[in-house]
Amino acid sequence: MSLQVFNTLSNKKEEFVPIDGKNVRMYACGPTVYDSSHLGHARMAIVWDVIQRYLRFVGYQVTFVRNITDVDDKIINRAKELGISPDQLSRQYTFEFWRDMYALNVMPPDFEPKATEFIQPMIQFVKELIDKGHAYESNGDVYFDVASFKSYGKLSKQNLEQLQSGAREQVRNQEELANVKKNPVDFALWKGADKGELGWPSPWGYGRPGWHLECSTMIRTVLGETIDIHGGGEDLVFPHHENEIAQSESLFEKDLAKYWLHNSFVQVSAEKMSKSLGNFKTIKDLLENYSSDTLRLLVLQTHYRNPIDFTADSLAAAKSAVLRLVRAAALHSDLDQNGDVPAKVKEVVNEAEKQFSEAMDNDFNTAVAITVLFSLGDKVFQTKDATEQKAYAAALIRLAKVLGFTLTDTRNEIEPRTAKGVMELVLQLRKNARESKDYATADLIRKELAELGINVMDAPGGATWEKN
Ligand SMILES: [Zn+2]
Repeated sequence: MSLQVFNTLSNKKEEFVPIDGKNVRMYACGPTVYDSSHLGHARMAIVWDVIQRYLRFVGYQVTFVRNITDVDDKIINRAKELGISPDQLSRQYTFEFWRDMYALNVMPPDFEPKATEFIQPMIQFVKELIDKGHAYESNGDVYFDVASFKSYGKLSKQNLEQLQSGAREQVRNQEELANVKKNPVDFALWKGADKGELGWPSPWGYGRPGWHLECSTMIRTVLGETIDIHGGGEDLVFPHHENEIAQSESLFEKDLAKYWLHNSFVQVSAEKMSKSLGNFKTIKDLLENYSSDTLRLLVLQTHYRNPIDFTADSLAAAKSAVLRLVRAAALHSDLDQNGDVPAKVKEVVNEAEKQFSEAMDNDFNTAVAITVLFSLGDKVFQTKDATEQKAYAAALIRLAKVLGFTLTDTRNEIEPRTAKGVMELVLQLRKNARESKDYATADLIRKELAELGINVMDAPGGATWEKN
Protein backbone atom coordinates (compact mmCIF):
# COMPACT_ATOMS: atom_id res chain seq x y z
CA MET A 1 0.00 0.00 0.00
CA SER A 2 1.22 3.50 -0.74
CA LEU A 3 0.88 6.51 1.51
CA GLN A 4 -2.63 7.95 1.68
CA VAL A 5 -3.31 11.38 3.16
CA PHE A 6 -6.56 13.16 3.97
CA ASN A 7 -6.71 16.30 1.87
CA THR A 8 -8.94 19.03 3.33
CA LEU A 9 -9.23 20.50 -0.18
CA SER A 10 -10.86 17.41 -1.72
CA ASN A 11 -12.34 16.33 1.62
CA LYS A 12 -11.10 12.77 1.09
CA LYS A 13 -8.10 10.49 1.39
CA GLU A 14 -5.80 10.58 -1.61
CA GLU A 15 -2.66 8.78 -2.66
CA PHE A 16 0.38 10.89 -1.84
CA VAL A 17 2.36 11.61 -5.02
CA PRO A 18 4.85 14.48 -4.71
CA ILE A 19 5.03 16.93 -7.60
CA ASP A 20 8.77 16.46 -8.04
CA GLY A 21 9.57 12.75 -7.64
CA LYS A 22 11.32 12.11 -4.36
CA ASN A 23 11.41 15.75 -3.23
CA VAL A 24 8.72 16.87 -0.83
CA ARG A 25 8.20 20.55 -0.13
CA MET A 26 6.24 21.07 3.04
CA TYR A 27 5.13 24.15 4.95
CA ALA A 28 3.39 24.41 8.32
CA CYS A 29 2.23 27.65 9.91
CA GLY A 30 4.29 28.32 13.04
CA PRO A 31 3.65 30.23 16.25
CA THR A 32 2.83 33.88 16.87
CA VAL A 33 5.43 34.62 19.51
CA TYR A 34 3.65 36.70 22.17
CA ASP A 35 3.22 34.21 25.03
CA SER A 36 4.39 30.81 26.31
CA SER A 37 3.50 27.77 24.23
CA HIS A 38 0.88 25.37 25.57
CA LEU A 39 -0.18 21.80 24.86
CA GLY A 40 -2.11 22.89 21.75
CA HIS A 41 1.16 24.20 20.24
CA ALA A 42 2.95 21.05 21.36
CA ARG A 43 0.39 18.93 19.53
CA MET A 44 0.77 20.88 16.31
CA ALA A 45 4.58 20.75 16.48
CA ILE A 46 4.64 17.01 17.30
CA VAL A 47 2.17 16.16 14.52
CA TRP A 48 4.24 17.94 11.81
CA ASP A 49 7.42 16.55 13.31
CA VAL A 50 6.11 12.99 12.96
CA ILE A 51 4.81 13.60 9.43
CA GLN A 52 8.16 14.87 8.22
CA ARG A 53 10.05 12.14 10.12
CA TYR A 54 7.90 9.48 8.46
CA LEU A 55 8.31 11.00 4.98
CA ARG A 56 12.09 10.94 5.48
CA PHE A 57 11.90 7.39 6.87
CA VAL A 58 10.22 6.11 3.69
CA GLY A 59 12.89 7.78 1.56
CA TYR A 60 11.67 11.24 0.53
CA GLN A 61 13.95 14.28 0.46
CA VAL A 62 11.95 16.67 2.61
CA THR A 63 12.30 20.43 2.79
CA PHE A 64 10.26 21.51 5.76
CA VAL A 65 9.53 25.17 6.43
CA ARG A 66 7.85 26.50 9.56
CA ASN A 67 7.59 30.25 10.08
CA ILE A 68 7.72 32.51 13.12
CA THR A 69 5.10 35.27 13.18
CA ASP A 70 6.83 38.17 14.89
CA VAL A 71 4.62 40.99 13.56
CA ASP A 72 1.10 40.90 14.96
CA ASP A 73 -1.38 43.02 16.92
CA LYS A 74 -1.22 40.47 19.77
CA ILE A 75 2.55 41.02 20.04
CA ILE A 76 2.18 44.80 19.90
CA ASN A 77 -0.56 44.86 22.55
CA ARG A 78 1.24 42.50 24.92
CA ALA A 79 4.50 44.44 24.58
CA LYS A 80 2.61 47.65 25.38
CA GLU A 81 1.13 46.03 28.52
CA LEU A 82 4.59 44.94 29.65
CA GLY A 83 6.25 48.22 28.72
CA ILE A 84 8.82 46.61 26.40
CA SER A 85 9.34 46.77 22.64
CA PRO A 86 7.51 44.31 20.36
CA ASP A 87 10.92 43.15 19.14
CA GLN A 88 12.07 42.35 22.68
CA LEU A 89 8.85 40.45 23.41
CA SER A 90 8.94 38.40 20.22
CA ARG A 91 12.62 37.53 20.66
CA GLN A 92 11.98 36.35 24.21
CA TYR A 93 9.10 34.08 23.14
CA THR A 94 10.94 32.85 20.05
CA PHE A 95 13.73 31.59 22.31
CA GLU A 96 11.14 30.04 24.67
CA PHE A 97 9.49 28.32 21.71
CA TRP A 98 12.84 26.91 20.55
CA ARG A 99 13.63 25.73 24.09
CA ASP A 100 10.24 23.97 24.27
CA MET A 101 10.66 22.38 20.83
CA TYR A 102 14.12 21.10 21.75
CA ALA A 103 12.79 19.69 25.03
CA LEU A 104 9.96 17.98 23.12
CA ASN A 105 12.48 16.38 20.72
CA VAL A 106 10.84 18.18 17.77
CA MET A 107 13.34 18.35 14.90
CA PRO A 108 14.12 21.89 13.77
CA PRO A 109 12.64 22.81 10.37
CA ASP A 110 14.98 23.16 7.37
CA PHE A 111 14.04 26.84 7.15
CA GLU A 112 12.42 29.01 9.78
CA PRO A 113 11.65 32.42 8.26
CA LYS A 114 10.49 35.30 10.44
CA ALA A 115 7.92 37.81 9.23
CA THR A 116 10.19 40.75 10.08
CA GLU A 117 12.81 39.34 7.69
CA PHE A 118 10.31 39.20 4.82
CA ILE A 119 8.92 42.75 4.76
CA GLN A 120 10.36 43.65 1.33
CA PRO A 121 9.20 40.43 -0.40
CA MET A 122 5.76 41.01 1.18
CA ILE A 123 5.60 44.58 -0.18
CA GLN A 124 6.57 43.19 -3.59
CA PHE A 125 3.80 40.58 -3.35
CA VAL A 126 1.21 43.28 -2.62
CA LYS A 127 2.44 45.43 -5.52
CA GLU A 128 2.00 42.51 -7.90
CA LEU A 129 -1.49 41.79 -6.58
CA ILE A 130 -2.47 45.45 -7.12
CA ASP A 131 -1.00 45.42 -10.64
CA LYS A 132 -3.00 42.32 -11.46
CA GLY A 133 -6.23 43.86 -10.18
CA HIS A 134 -6.64 41.62 -7.11
CA ALA A 135 -5.93 44.26 -4.47
CA TYR A 136 -6.65 47.95 -3.90
CA GLU A 137 -5.42 50.74 -1.69
CA SER A 138 -7.77 52.53 0.65
CA ASN A 139 -6.70 55.21 3.16
CA GLY A 140 -3.18 53.86 3.60
CA ASP A 141 -4.39 50.24 3.88
CA VAL A 142 -4.32 47.66 1.11
CA TYR A 143 -7.10 45.07 0.85
CA PHE A 144 -7.40 41.89 -1.13
CA ASP A 145 -10.42 42.08 -3.45
CA VAL A 146 -12.08 38.77 -2.61
CA ALA A 147 -14.64 39.10 -5.42
CA SER A 148 -11.74 39.04 -7.92
CA PHE A 149 -10.84 35.47 -6.96
CA LYS A 150 -13.51 33.09 -8.22
CA SER A 151 -12.60 30.05 -6.10
CA TYR A 152 -12.70 31.90 -2.77
CA GLY A 153 -14.07 29.54 -0.10
CA LYS A 154 -12.96 26.31 -1.82
CA LEU A 155 -10.90 25.05 1.15
CA SER A 156 -13.44 25.83 3.86
CA LYS A 157 -16.37 24.86 1.61
CA GLN A 158 -18.14 28.19 1.90
CA ASN A 159 -19.45 30.37 -0.86
CA LEU A 160 -18.86 34.07 -1.19
CA GLU A 161 -22.53 35.00 -0.71
CA GLN A 162 -22.75 33.25 2.67
CA LEU A 163 -19.50 34.84 3.73
CA GLN A 164 -20.61 38.27 2.60
CA SER A 165 -23.88 38.21 4.51
CA GLY A 166 -22.07 36.98 7.64
CA ALA A 167 -19.47 39.70 7.33
CA ARG A 168 -22.09 42.41 6.68
CA GLU A 169 -23.77 41.47 9.93
CA GLN A 170 -20.49 41.98 11.77
CA VAL A 171 -19.63 45.34 10.26
CA ARG A 172 -23.15 46.81 10.38
CA ASN A 173 -22.17 49.13 13.22
CA GLN A 174 -18.71 49.79 11.92
CA GLU A 175 -19.53 52.29 9.21
CA GLU A 176 -15.96 53.41 9.05
CA LEU A 177 -14.62 49.95 8.29
CA ALA A 178 -17.42 49.28 5.81
CA ASN A 179 -16.44 52.41 3.90
CA VAL A 180 -12.77 51.58 3.47
CA LYS A 181 -13.48 48.14 2.02
CA LYS A 182 -15.26 47.43 -1.26
CA ASN A 183 -16.66 44.26 0.21
CA PRO A 184 -16.96 43.33 3.91
CA VAL A 185 -15.08 40.04 3.37
CA ASP A 186 -12.03 41.76 1.84
CA PHE A 187 -9.02 41.27 4.10
CA ALA A 188 -6.01 43.47 4.81
CA LEU A 189 -2.71 42.85 3.03
CA TRP A 190 -1.16 46.00 4.46
CA LYS A 191 -2.36 48.08 7.40
CA GLY A 192 -1.37 51.69 7.91
CA ALA A 193 0.21 52.44 11.28
CA ASP A 194 1.03 55.58 13.24
CA LYS A 195 4.64 56.67 13.25
CA GLY A 196 6.17 55.44 16.51
CA GLU A 197 4.27 52.16 16.26
CA LEU A 198 5.85 49.03 14.83
CA GLY A 199 5.96 49.49 11.05
CA TRP A 200 7.91 49.94 7.83
CA PRO A 201 7.76 52.42 4.96
CA SER A 202 5.87 51.22 1.89
CA PRO A 203 4.43 52.64 -1.36
CA TRP A 204 1.13 53.08 0.59
CA GLY A 205 2.70 54.81 3.56
CA TYR A 206 4.05 53.66 6.90
CA GLY A 207 2.46 50.42 8.13
CA ARG A 208 2.76 46.70 8.55
CA PRO A 209 1.75 43.54 6.67
CA GLY A 210 -1.40 41.53 7.35
CA TRP A 211 -0.80 38.09 8.85
CA HIS A 212 -2.01 35.97 5.89
CA LEU A 213 0.48 37.61 3.56
CA GLU A 214 3.60 36.30 5.27
CA CYS A 215 2.92 32.61 4.60
CA SER A 216 2.14 33.18 0.90
CA THR A 217 5.31 35.25 0.55
CA MET A 218 7.59 32.86 2.44
CA ILE A 219 6.31 29.84 0.51
CA ARG A 220 6.97 31.66 -2.76
CA THR A 221 10.47 32.78 -1.71
CA VAL A 222 11.69 29.67 0.09
CA LEU A 223 9.85 26.78 -1.61
CA GLY A 224 8.30 28.00 -4.86
CA GLU A 225 4.84 28.73 -6.25
CA THR A 226 3.32 25.29 -5.64
CA ILE A 227 4.25 23.00 -2.74
CA ASP A 228 3.31 19.42 -1.88
CA ILE A 229 1.97 19.73 1.66
CA HIS A 230 0.60 22.74 3.48
CA GLY A 231 -0.25 22.06 7.09
CA GLY A 232 -1.61 23.72 10.16
CA GLY A 233 -4.20 23.50 12.90
CA GLU A 234 -7.81 23.10 11.76
CA ASP A 235 -8.65 26.53 13.17
CA LEU A 236 -6.45 27.96 10.40
CA VAL A 237 -8.60 26.61 7.53
CA PHE A 238 -10.69 29.78 7.60
CA PRO A 239 -9.81 32.52 7.17
CA HIS A 240 -6.01 32.06 7.26
CA HIS A 241 -5.46 29.28 4.71
CA GLU A 242 -8.37 30.39 2.55
CA ASN A 243 -6.71 33.80 2.33
CA GLU A 244 -3.27 32.32 1.62
CA ILE A 245 -4.88 30.46 -1.30
CA ALA A 246 -6.59 33.64 -2.56
CA GLN A 247 -3.33 35.63 -2.49
CA SER A 248 -1.04 33.01 -4.05
CA GLU A 249 -3.41 31.44 -6.54
CA SER A 250 -4.73 34.71 -7.92
CA LEU A 251 -1.16 35.89 -8.47
CA PHE A 252 0.39 32.71 -9.90
CA GLU A 253 -2.72 31.05 -11.37
CA LYS A 254 -1.43 27.76 -9.94
CA ASP A 255 -2.39 25.68 -6.91
CA LEU A 256 -0.62 26.84 -3.75
CA ALA A 257 -0.45 23.31 -2.35
CA LYS A 258 -1.34 19.87 -3.65
CA TYR A 259 -2.31 18.50 -0.22
CA TRP A 260 -3.80 20.48 2.66
CA LEU A 261 -3.47 18.68 6.00
CA HIS A 262 -4.99 19.93 9.25
CA ASN A 263 -4.60 18.70 12.78
CA SER A 264 -7.39 18.88 15.34
CA PHE A 265 -7.11 20.67 18.66
CA VAL A 266 -6.60 19.81 22.32
CA GLN A 267 -9.61 20.30 24.53
CA VAL A 268 -9.86 20.60 28.26
CA SER A 269 -13.29 19.60 29.59
CA ALA A 270 -14.63 19.67 26.03
CA GLU A 271 -13.58 23.26 25.41
CA LYS A 272 -10.85 24.19 23.04
CA MET A 273 -7.57 24.74 24.82
CA SER A 274 -6.56 28.28 24.17
CA LYS A 275 -5.13 31.20 26.02
CA SER A 276 -8.35 33.16 25.94
CA LEU A 277 -10.04 30.45 28.03
CA GLY A 278 -7.28 30.63 30.59
CA ASN A 279 -7.10 26.85 30.91
CA PHE A 280 -3.81 26.24 29.23
CA LYS A 281 -0.85 24.46 30.70
CA THR A 282 2.44 25.65 29.30
CA ILE A 283 4.81 23.13 27.74
CA LYS A 284 7.40 24.17 30.31
CA ASP A 285 5.01 23.43 33.21
CA LEU A 286 4.16 20.05 31.75
CA LEU A 287 7.80 19.09 31.13
CA GLU A 288 8.65 19.79 34.75
CA ASN A 289 6.53 16.82 35.72
CA TYR A 290 6.33 14.63 32.62
CA SER A 291 8.89 13.46 30.08
CA SER A 292 8.79 14.53 26.44
CA ASP A 293 7.97 10.91 25.57
CA THR A 294 4.91 11.05 27.84
CA LEU A 295 3.61 14.21 26.15
CA ARG A 296 4.39 12.71 22.74
CA LEU A 297 2.47 9.54 23.58
CA LEU A 298 -0.45 11.61 24.85
CA VAL A 299 -0.52 13.46 21.51
CA LEU A 300 0.14 10.53 19.16
CA GLN A 301 -2.20 8.00 20.70
CA THR A 302 -5.01 10.01 19.07
CA HIS A 303 -5.10 10.32 15.27
CA TYR A 304 -4.08 13.84 14.31
CA ARG A 305 -7.47 14.69 12.83
CA ASN A 306 -9.39 13.86 16.04
CA PRO A 307 -9.61 16.15 19.07
CA ILE A 308 -7.67 15.22 22.21
CA ASP A 309 -9.44 15.42 25.53
CA PHE A 310 -6.76 16.50 27.96
CA THR A 311 -7.19 15.28 31.52
CA ALA A 312 -4.88 14.54 34.43
CA ASP A 313 -5.89 10.87 34.10
CA SER A 314 -4.87 10.66 30.45
CA LEU A 315 -1.52 12.19 31.32
CA ALA A 316 -0.94 9.71 34.16
CA ALA A 317 -1.93 6.79 31.91
CA ALA A 318 0.50 7.99 29.21
CA LYS A 319 3.25 8.22 31.81
CA SER A 320 2.90 4.62 32.95
CA ALA A 321 2.53 3.38 29.36
CA VAL A 322 5.78 5.10 28.37
CA LEU A 323 7.49 3.46 31.33
CA ARG A 324 6.66 0.02 29.85
CA LEU A 325 8.37 0.99 26.60
CA VAL A 326 11.36 2.49 28.43
CA ARG A 327 11.85 -0.70 30.49
CA ALA A 328 11.73 -2.84 27.36
CA ALA A 329 14.13 -0.58 25.43
CA ALA A 330 16.55 -0.38 28.37
CA LEU A 331 17.07 -4.15 28.16
CA HIS A 332 18.68 -3.62 24.76
CA SER A 333 21.81 -2.03 26.19
CA ASP A 334 21.84 -4.32 29.23
CA LEU A 335 22.13 -7.41 27.06
CA ASP A 336 25.40 -8.35 25.45
CA GLN A 337 24.16 -11.50 23.73
CA ASN A 338 24.90 -11.46 20.04
CA GLY A 339 23.76 -14.87 18.86
CA ASP A 340 21.89 -15.49 15.62
CA VAL A 341 18.35 -14.18 15.76
CA PRO A 342 15.98 -17.14 15.24
CA ALA A 343 13.91 -17.07 12.02
CA LYS A 344 10.63 -16.95 13.99
CA VAL A 345 11.77 -13.77 15.75
CA LYS A 346 12.76 -12.15 12.46
CA GLU A 347 9.32 -13.02 11.16
CA VAL A 348 7.59 -11.38 14.12
CA VAL A 349 9.77 -8.27 13.73
CA ASN A 350 9.07 -8.08 9.98
CA GLU A 351 5.35 -8.43 10.61
CA ALA A 352 5.51 -5.65 13.24
CA GLU A 353 7.35 -3.35 10.81
CA LYS A 354 4.77 -4.10 8.14
CA GLN A 355 1.89 -3.27 10.50
CA PHE A 356 3.65 -0.09 11.56
CA SER A 357 4.10 1.06 7.95
CA GLU A 358 0.52 0.17 7.04
CA ALA A 359 -0.76 2.27 9.93
CA MET A 360 1.44 5.23 9.04
CA ASP A 361 0.61 4.90 5.33
CA ASN A 362 -3.03 5.20 6.31
CA ASP A 363 -3.01 8.98 6.79
CA PHE A 364 -0.30 8.83 9.50
CA ASN A 365 -2.37 6.71 11.87
CA THR A 366 -0.04 6.99 14.85
CA ALA A 367 -2.73 5.63 17.19
CA VAL A 368 -2.39 2.22 15.49
CA ALA A 369 1.38 2.51 14.95
CA ILE A 370 1.81 2.95 18.71
CA THR A 371 0.01 -0.35 19.40
CA VAL A 372 2.79 -2.01 17.36
CA LEU A 373 5.38 -0.46 19.72
CA PHE A 374 3.54 -1.85 22.73
CA SER A 375 3.28 -5.32 21.27
CA LEU A 376 7.05 -5.31 20.60
CA GLY A 377 7.54 -4.16 24.19
CA ASP A 378 5.41 -7.10 25.39
CA LYS A 379 7.49 -9.50 23.25
CA VAL A 380 10.65 -8.34 25.02
CA PHE A 381 9.24 -9.49 28.36
CA GLN A 382 7.45 -12.61 27.12
CA THR A 383 10.67 -14.34 26.09
CA LYS A 384 13.48 -15.25 28.46
CA ASP A 385 16.04 -15.66 25.67
CA ALA A 386 18.50 -12.74 25.67
CA THR A 387 19.13 -12.80 21.90
CA GLU A 388 15.41 -12.68 21.20
CA GLN A 389 14.88 -9.95 23.76
CA LYS A 390 17.62 -7.88 22.20
CA ALA A 391 16.14 -8.30 18.71
CA TYR A 392 12.68 -7.21 19.85
CA ALA A 393 14.08 -4.29 21.83
CA ALA A 394 16.13 -3.16 18.80
CA ALA A 395 13.01 -3.20 16.58
CA LEU A 396 11.10 -1.26 19.24
CA ILE A 397 13.80 1.43 19.45
CA ARG A 398 14.02 1.68 15.64
CA LEU A 399 10.26 2.20 15.12
CA ALA A 400 9.83 4.42 18.19
CA LYS A 401 12.45 6.76 16.73
CA VAL A 402 10.36 7.24 13.58
CA LEU A 403 7.65 8.68 15.84
CA GLY A 404 10.22 10.83 17.67
CA PHE A 405 10.29 8.89 20.94
CA THR A 406 13.66 8.95 22.72
CA LEU A 407 12.86 6.14 25.21
CA THR A 408 15.45 7.74 27.47
CA ASP A 409 15.73 5.81 30.70
CA THR A 410 15.44 8.29 33.57
CA ARG A 411 14.25 5.80 36.17
CA ASN A 412 17.38 6.24 38.28
CA GLU A 413 17.60 10.02 37.97
CA ILE A 414 16.34 11.69 41.10
CA GLU A 415 15.15 15.22 41.66
CA PRO A 416 17.12 17.56 43.98
CA ARG A 417 14.29 17.50 46.54
CA THR A 418 14.37 13.69 46.59
CA ALA A 419 18.17 13.75 46.88
CA LYS A 420 17.84 15.98 49.94
CA GLY A 421 15.52 13.44 51.56
CA VAL A 422 18.00 10.64 50.80
CA MET A 423 20.84 12.64 52.46
CA GLU A 424 18.71 13.23 55.56
CA LEU A 425 18.15 9.50 55.76
CA VAL A 426 21.87 8.70 55.38
CA LEU A 427 22.81 11.19 58.12
CA GLN A 428 20.15 9.74 60.38
CA LEU A 429 21.61 6.23 59.88
CA ARG A 430 25.08 7.60 60.64
CA LYS A 431 23.75 9.23 63.80
CA ASN A 432 22.17 5.92 64.88
CA ALA A 433 25.49 4.14 64.29
CA ARG A 434 27.38 6.65 66.45
CA GLU A 435 24.79 6.43 69.20
CA SER A 436 25.28 2.67 69.36
CA LYS A 437 29.05 3.22 69.31
CA ASP A 438 29.43 1.65 65.87
CA TYR A 439 32.11 4.19 64.84
CA ALA A 440 33.37 2.00 62.01
CA THR A 441 30.04 2.34 60.15
CA ALA A 442 29.78 6.07 60.93
CA ASP A 443 33.29 6.65 59.55
CA LEU A 444 32.60 4.51 56.49
CA ILE A 445 29.54 6.65 55.67
CA ARG A 446 31.54 9.86 56.01
CA LYS A 447 34.42 8.49 53.90
CA GLU A 448 32.16 7.14 51.11
CA LEU A 449 30.20 10.40 50.96
CA ALA A 450 33.48 12.35 50.72
CA GLU A 451 34.42 10.24 47.71
CA LEU A 452 31.08 11.17 46.13
CA GLY A 453 31.96 14.83 46.68
CA ILE A 454 29.83 15.37 49.79
CA ASN A 455 31.38 16.68 53.03
CA VAL A 456 29.72 15.88 56.34
CA MET A 457 30.27 18.41 59.15
CA ASP A 458 29.51 17.47 62.73
CA ALA A 459 28.13 20.23 64.92
CA PRO A 460 26.42 20.39 68.33
CA GLY A 461 22.99 20.71 66.65
CA GLY A 462 23.59 17.63 64.47
CA ALA A 463 25.50 16.85 61.29
CA THR A 464 25.07 18.94 58.14
CA TRP A 465 26.36 18.31 54.59
CA GLU A 466 27.48 20.24 51.56
CA LYS A 467 28.92 19.56 48.10
CA ASN A 468 32.64 20.16 48.03
ZN1 LIG B 1 0.12 30.39 7.44
